[in-house]
Amino acid sequence: MTDDSESMISPLAAGLPSSGIRKMMRMAAGMHDVVHLEVGEPSFPTPRHIIEAASAAALAGATRYTPTAGTDGLRAAVARRMSARWRREVEPGQVIVGAGAVASLAAAVFAAVGPGDEILLPDPGWPNYLSMSLLAGATPRFYRLRKEDAFLPDLDELTTLVGPCTKAMIVNTPGNPTGAVFPRRIVEGLVALSREHGFTLISDEIYEEILFDVEMSSPGSFGPDVVYVSGMSKSYAMTGWRVGFAVAPLDVVQAMEKIQEPLVSCAPAISQAAAEAALSGPQEVVGEMARVYRRRRALVVERLAPLGLLPVVPDGSFYALVDLSATGLKGQELAERLLLQAGVATAPGSTFGPSAASLVRISFAADDEDLVVGCERIIRFHDAMRLERGTTAGSTRSRAETIITEERA
Ligand code: PLP
Repeated sequence: MTDDSESMISPLAAGLPSSGIRKMMRMAAGMHDVVHLEVGEPSFPTPRHIIEAASAAALAGATRYTPTAGTDGLRAAVARRMSARWRREVEPGQVIVGAGAVASLAAAVFAAVGPGDEILLPDPGWPNYLSMSLLAGATPRFYRLRKEDAFLPDLDELTTLVGPCTKAMIVNTPGNPTGAVFPRRIVEGLVALSREHGFTLISDEIYEEILFDVEMSSPGSFGPDVVYVSGMSKSYAMTGWRVGFAVAPLDVVQAMEKIQEPLVSCAPAISQAAAEAALSGPQEVVGEMARVYRRRRALVVERLAPLGLLPVVPDGSFYALVDLSATGLKGQELAERLLLQAGVATAPGSTFGPSAASLVRISFAADDEDLVVGCERIIRFHDAMRLERGTTAGSTRSRAETIITEERA
């Protein structure tokens, strides 16, 4: 053992970003009277019929390794679902099951890029895209999703980022943290760009079932060359079961299988049985949860949009980005002061990319009352900080702190 424990960590591991969301969760955990809007998972329990199917499967022997690419039953269930949805034939052999969509995405990234290659990632975007790209040894290049553009990619700007080293691009619709759902025109443009330049389009559609009055235009539907990734976590409230899946060209599936083998071997057998039951059973639960998120979105929009704090009304997922740029605060400091002074835990925008530094992400996974109180506290914090900035520029936070504390009392 050496005294210098850092020297035992590889530069690759040491260079990985740590999660700003986890940091906020840790900070908030020890505090009382905190409204939790930072959490990125459904607030519902897994529907009962899915748990019962899993329990029956475990008793019937689903307790062993499965094939690396997943059970035949689950691969067939995914193939059936995607064939029906996309109106084109998807074979079970084009499906590979992973230990959560995160593992499927990582396998897709490792299959597509390596050292010397570039991968295009959204800014703001889910932070794990960056970590998995760095683990693959690839160079990330970020394409902007601007609030002025409703957090949609600018195809002309994207074209300028593509070069001879571009080997892959990740797109995420509906988006985390933006809530943006790409319209067909954009999706067509992205698919065309990937074909023209011969790079792999990896499409993360994990929030595909959580849509508010808009049509989903699935990049995966555009053809067998797109690597589509989704999973059970968000649509069926199954985050802890760890089941995701990808639909990809056969050679990509084979490569992902080789990558998955030394990492996880396979997704848990019991969870795969649960996922098969979820995909084959009653689907009303999915719509019911989406309707609750829609109602909660309305609560947020009503309160924040008239004040200009919601730059874009989310069309999908269960997140909204709140614009607090008028406070003059940014990044982790913005989220920490919102937590410490106003008692609202959020995900700092900076964790999703530099362009979102003066925003925070809130989640509709909280119940209605928490969302209402959380929005009110955010508004008071915003007003107090703006006031402080205008009248006591350069001074400490005390004045705003007093205003907020009085209001909360
Ligand atoms: N993709 C996005 C955009 C996510 O937000 C998440 C989870 O938060 C995932 C993928 C991973 O989901 P899973 O639980 O299936 O690994």
